[in-house]
Amino acid sequence: MKAIILFSGGLDSQLASRILQEQGIKVIGLNFVTPFHDHSEAAREAADALGIELIVHRTGNEYLAQIANPRFGYGKAANPCIDCRIEMCRVAKERMELCGACFVATGEVVGQRPNGQMLHQLNLIQRESGLDGFLVRPLSAGALTPTQPEIQGLLNRKKLFRYTGRGRGRVIALAHRLGIKKIPPMSTGCFLCETSYAAKVFDLFKHEPHPTNWDAEVLNAGRQLRLSPNVKMVLGRNKNHCKRLEELFARPDSRPSILLIPESFQGPTALLIGERVQEYIEPGGALILRYTNPAKFDPTAATIRVCYGSTQTVVPVIKNEEVNDFLVR
Ligand code: SF4
Repeated sequence: MKAIILFSGGLDSQLASRILQEQGIKVIGLNFVTPFHDHSEAAREAADALGIELIVHRTGNEYLAQIANPRFGYGKAANPCIDCRIEMCRVAKERMELCGACFVATGEVVGQRPNGQMLHQLNLIQRESGLDGFLVRPLSAGALTPTQPEIQGLLNRKKLFRYTGRGRGRVIALAHRLGIKKIPPMSTGCFLCETSYAAKVFDLFKHEPHPTNWDAEVLNAGRQLRLSPNVKMVLGRNKNHCKRLEELFARPDSRPSILLIPESFQGPTALLIGERVQEYIEPGGALILRYTNPAKFDPTAATIRVCYGSTQTVVPVIKNEEVNDFLVR
């Protein structure tokens, strides 16, 4: 008998997998990668240690459409955890049907997190994902209504757990008992939960009615400067960001954009994105200078390379103290 488990690679999903394995269930892990959250490597390592198959699911633009307009709202930052869990469970249900599995499981614990794991929220997620009766939470099953696999005797309810609340000590003790050696730190690892990141996300959703994965990946590639409702500039903070901006510029799914690369001095690369971006080359160059160490350029001879489509030109840039600070974050 097979089950699909939402598998982040965190301790709870590892424990839930082990509990099911102890009942003879063949567990298949389903790991989600979003532009805000990628722990697929850690999940792969944990899945290998447990001896389970792992499927990595990369979310597409439809996921962004959902989190831009969450039916059940946001948590403390830009994290729409209830909608996100519903979507994950919905995808897991599709996988369950495809793989001939009998149910879906998660490592959720009733009351462990305020946004998404309160009892009424767990019931809501189960119902809205179409998994009513087929969503098993092995760590908290005793505190929840019996599911179909338990009722039908496919799972022994007495060997499932009834944990509630936040206590970490008992799950670590259980991990030792079940032979899980590597205990990962307790963290969602999701940028959407960071209040410092939320401003960038909400700025994107405010100005872009149909956000794409490309837009979301841009958020992770440097400072975000909103120059007008239709134009944004992203300025690399380090070498990795600058390289990433070049990659994003060259991607087939990129939006109309212009890449600005310092030519005669060492400074940050910038990507101008949006409508009529050509009009923003001059302020874009001035902003590059603003974020460059003044000792690193000659203000009378500073030039940048302007890349637009397949054409490139080198133009002078002028320091302009009057460019406003457009920083989103
Ligand atoms: S923390 Fe992030 S990945 Fe996890 S449920 Fe919330 S929004 Fe989704």
